[in-house]
Amino acid sequence: MVIEDLIEQLKTKIETNLPQGVSISEVEFEGPQLVIYTEEPRKFADDGNIVRNLAKILRTRIVVRPDPKVLIPPEESIDLIKKNVPEESAITDFHFDPDVGEVIIEAEKPGLVIGKHGETLREITKQVGWTPKVVRTPPIKSRTVNNIREFMKKNHKERKEILKTIGRNIHRESTSKDQWVRLTSLGGCREVGRSCFVLSTPESKVMIDCGVNVGSDENMTPYLYVPELQPFKQLDAIIVTHAHLDHQGLVPLLYKYGYEGPIYCTPPTRDMMVLLQLDYIDVAAKDGKRIPYDSADVRNALKHTIVMDYEEVTDIAPDIKLTFHNAGHIIGSSISHFHIGDGLHNVVITGDFKYGPTRLFNPAVNKFPRVETVITESTYGASNALQPPLKDAERHLQQVIRDTIQQEGVVVIPAFAVGRSQEVMIVIEEAIRKGIIDEIPVYLDGMIWEATAIHATYPEYLNNDLRKLIFQKGQNPFLAECFKPVDSNELRQKIINEPHPCVILATSGMMNGGPVIEYFKAFAPSEKNTLIFVGYQADGTLGRRIQKGWKEIPLSSGRGGTETIEMNMNVEVIDGFSGHSDRRQLMEYFKKMRPQPERIFTEHGDERSCVDLASSLYRKRKVETRALTNLETVRLV
Ligand SMILES: [Zn+2]
Ligand SMILES: [Zn+2]
Repeated sequence: MVIEDLIEQLKTKIETNLPQGVSISEVEFEGPQLVIYTEEPRKFADDGNIVRNLAKILRTRIVVRPDPKVLIPPEESIDLIKKNVPEESAITDFHFDPDVGEVIIEAEKPGLVIGKHGETLREITKQVGWTPKVVRTPPIKSRTVNNIREFMKKNHKERKEILKTIGRNIHRESTSKDQWVRLTSLGGCREVGRSCFVLSTPESKVMIDCGVNVGSDENMTPYLYVPELQPFKQLDAIIVTHAHLDHQGLVPLLYKYGYEGPIYCTPPTRDMMVLLQLDYIDVAAKDGKRIPYDSADVRNALKHTIVMDYEEVTDIAPDIKLTFHNAGHIIGSSISHFHIGDGLHNVVITGDFKYGPTRLFNPAVNKFPRVETVITESTYGASNALQPPLKDAERHLQQVIRDTIQQEGVVVIPAFAVGRSQEVMIVIEEAIRKGIIDEIPVYLDGMIWEATAIHATYPEYLNNDLRKLIFQKGQNPFLAECFKPVDSNELRQKIINEPHPCVILATSGMMNGGPVIEYFKAFAPSEKNTLIFVGYQADGTLGRRIQKGWKEIPLSSGRGGTETIEMNMNVEVIDGFSGHSDRRQLMEYFKKMRPQPERIFTEHGDERSCVDLASSLYRKRKVETRALTNLETVRLV
């Protein structure tokens, strides 16, 4: 059946199932959703059962949108909305999104805008036509989030066309009678960096992650030139598990190669991804390295991005449904569950995950409706890769900071912008609040503040304790007075030239560039100061050299020459803050997984870690296991 006929058929089916007196004007696939346009959004808003019934009958995700004809102009709508809600709700902003006929209302007390059982919202829908969505005013404004919203608004016509094409592609008729599923590994096996997999069936082909190995010049990109990927046009979807560059750094490049389809990820992953991609090409340009794509490619990728929250089952190809689950690794990180065919096979790709407590996130999900094959990360898969408990790490950190401050020293912590920085911030804030550490300034340099703002924009992606702290007790730790974003070179120079007891959190995490280098140059010569490593330092990085005990460190002077830095400051390595599961947590994750899988493949770890984890899981769980290598294809069904 051609797609036009299918849409016509669906429209008739919907019309015959609508209650008397309710009408619709248009039906269209937009991305994975079936969108019903109506001139009477108030009737749909009044009766929640209409949509529920239709979804059940049509077995697909349905959204009802107001026909653009009935939308009251934004200025008038704002007046009407304000008339309906009490002043105490403290509305701070409105964002009209003509793309979806939605108005986002930002308020300090969202409950008052929603009203009892959603009463006020329904009234608003009736009066303005737009579908209202209420969010809590983010406590920190994120430049990235704002730019993305503006960009989407400006490009909504083009985006609508893109979504329409994607939608029609997803809902095309299946043609193949054969049944098989294959997994191809293109990067990230027996190594960390350039993660990339392709899952294929006779009908469809989806890519999971497309990372870049920033630490390596020879093995930087996944094997994207293999014949089965050509032409890129025939890929159905790219799934991005989380925003770290080793999982998404080369996604914009795929559009340069001719890919035109969608990217699926969670909303925080999308925003963080754009921030990190732009920073990546910026840093590469400054270092005189080859830049694989430019900001226009980043924008093009953004236009094709479709966001999904956790636990939303979504059709991404005629025979593949995708559901994201919390991975506990960084904000928005997900474990991807693929349901293939009509009950034919279920694949779980963990991406990076943390099965244990952290200050920021709930532990990774390991309960699925069904699962036969799992592909798991193995960063700490080696039998001796144990991390100390988080509580010990926190105490150790507080102790080192206290000792350094007592001797009037400065603490420098190299940190990744996303994940560990926010974790460390929360620990330090608590220690200051409880009087364990004196009240000292905590400077945040590099992208740390902007990444923190993105965390604050998506509180629903943080763990229960932190959410409670932010909302119920009004004690948002990120807003504590001790945190001082370093937003100018003047402030940076001032911190360097007038040393005073303080903590400096600065990027990059492995000290291979970024503002942390300037602080290091300034504070390394004095034994009063301390350098604290809270994250993994890869071979070849400055961080690793310092850990090895180098006493004289050559660094570029910024004027083309080199200078030698005398290293006298204390160095402390604090393990336990990792966003990855350690060996014990990895084994535990599979022990408690429900249902138990039939087969587990390992990846994302050095050779020993991947092999070690695969053989231990084979012995303990009595399932087929394998440490994948790059460039192999395994038949799953
Ligand atoms: Zn990661
Ligand atoms: Zn990773």
